[in-house]
Amino acid sequence: MLKGKIFCKTKIVATIGPASWDKNILKDMITQGMDVARINASFADFDELKRVSQNIREISPRVGIMLDTMGHKIRVTGFNEERKLIEKEKIIVVPDKGENSNQNLDNNHIAITYPTLHQDISRNAHILLDDGLVSLKVIDIKGEEILCEVVQGGILRPKKTVNIPNTNLKFPSLSKKDKLDIKYAVENGFDFISASFIRDIHDIAMVRKLMGKTHIKLIAKIEDREGVDNFDQILPLVDGVMVARGDMGVELPLEDVPVIQKQIIFKCRSVGKPVIVATQMLESMRKSVRPTRAEVSDVANAVMDGCDALMLSAETSTGEFPVEAVKTMNKIAIKVEDVLRPQRVQGYTQVSIETDELCNCIFDLANSIYLKGVIVLSQSGKTSQSLARHRLTIPIWEIGNDIVRIRQNSLLRGVKGFYINDLPDDRDKAVLKSVECVYSHGELDLNDKIAIISGSSIKNRSYNSILEIVNVSDIVGS
Ligand code: PEP
Repeated sequence: MLKGKIFCKTKIVATIGPASWDKNILKDMITQGMDVARINASFADFDELKRVSQNIREISPRVGIMLDTMGHKIRVTGFNEERKLIEKEKIIVVPDKGENSNQNLDNNHIAITYPTLHQDISRNAHILLDDGLVSLKVIDIKGEEILCEVVQGGILRPKKTVNIPNTNLKFPSLSKKDKLDIKYAVENGFDFISASFIRDIHDIAMVRKLMGKTHIKLIAKIEDREGVDNFDQILPLVDGVMVARGDMGVELPLEDVPVIQKQIIFKCRSVGKPVIVATQMLESMRKSVRPTRAEVSDVANAVMDGCDALMLSAETSTGEFPVEAVKTMNKIAIKVEDVLRPQRVQGYTQVSIETDELCNCIFDLANSIYLKGVIVLSQSGKTSQSLARHRLTIPIWEIGNDIVRIRQNSLLRGVKGFYINDLPDDRDKAVLKSVECVYSHGELDLNDKIAIISGSSIKNRSYNSILEIVNVSDIVGS
């Protein structure tokens, strides 16, 4: 295990790109607290997916690998130099006809890569360019031409993104690139697929169908009005959620985002599914070794909101200080976690009711008798989800002989995985080995008291659950 110092309980997902795909930098990022490496397919071809995932595997078998699909990004085309759009100027938006079309556009036109917008959009709708830095209002639609007035002027650079809030665009659930990338992730042992722009259960069905029978966990990126409105139907069908604040902050009013973040975290916790807060968390660290006060506060507040994981995007993929960004995030989260109290969550998760109730008991016991931590031995890994959602202040040591599950549960707040290759089938022997393992990693002293929960027992796969309180000294050295 490369990690040797104190790490926050909240997990860190870091996006890997040109700034961080060097093996030594990856190593340093892991040493500073990166738990999951995300590769953004918008900027990666197969060669890069292969190179980055192989590098990570060679450095650490414990770090999860996440493929983030490109989804349907609309972009502006038709010009190569940056352009200045001035307030009240009239602009005609037309469909991009492709590279070979000889489409000649003058300064009054811009093309976009969504060919049927004129059919989907109506007058008075807004078209936001480059993350909303420039905005247009639709005045009229004539055939394929959408006449707009510039509402918010600014510099528009080639190939910038286009968002059209409150308009239901008729994208297929998956683009051609998404399909190829998902297939690649399934065939090459990735741990997570974060699927962009999940709008409804139909989108999930399409991704699941393509994934086929696989161990990979599906994370739904919620980033537009439809995804937010349909969230209650989406959540039961996915393994986790990402609050994708980048697009969400353009698709929805910016001021809605903090409340949606809290609501999504609350709902995910109540069913024990991991939730990631993403985008611009330490944005200024792309260029500066110190973040702004507001960014530090944002990271701290996401931890207080109770998320499982925090995500770094451009900070680590193209920024100048990828290792410092991970280090900074870890430091902020540790500070906040120090003053947080566990928060009991109501509701049931995907384990048996009995196991959920035993996890509730652990919440109470952790408060009433001094427990150093909890060892979880479970067949499915779901007991850790049930327990982690209470955000205990004591560690959850998950023991398993399945390294993939250990990687996947490394997204859960407070869960620290230990891999034991030859974990005995017999529960008593497995307990002995597990306590010895945690003890040998310096996590326990002889005079500590711990809880051990084994969900479905190791040998017997039925849903019996056992909760045991033990003194470490009675096990280690006995
Ligand atoms: C986001 O929009 O916040 C996000 C994480 O997605 P992407 O980085 O693909 O834009």
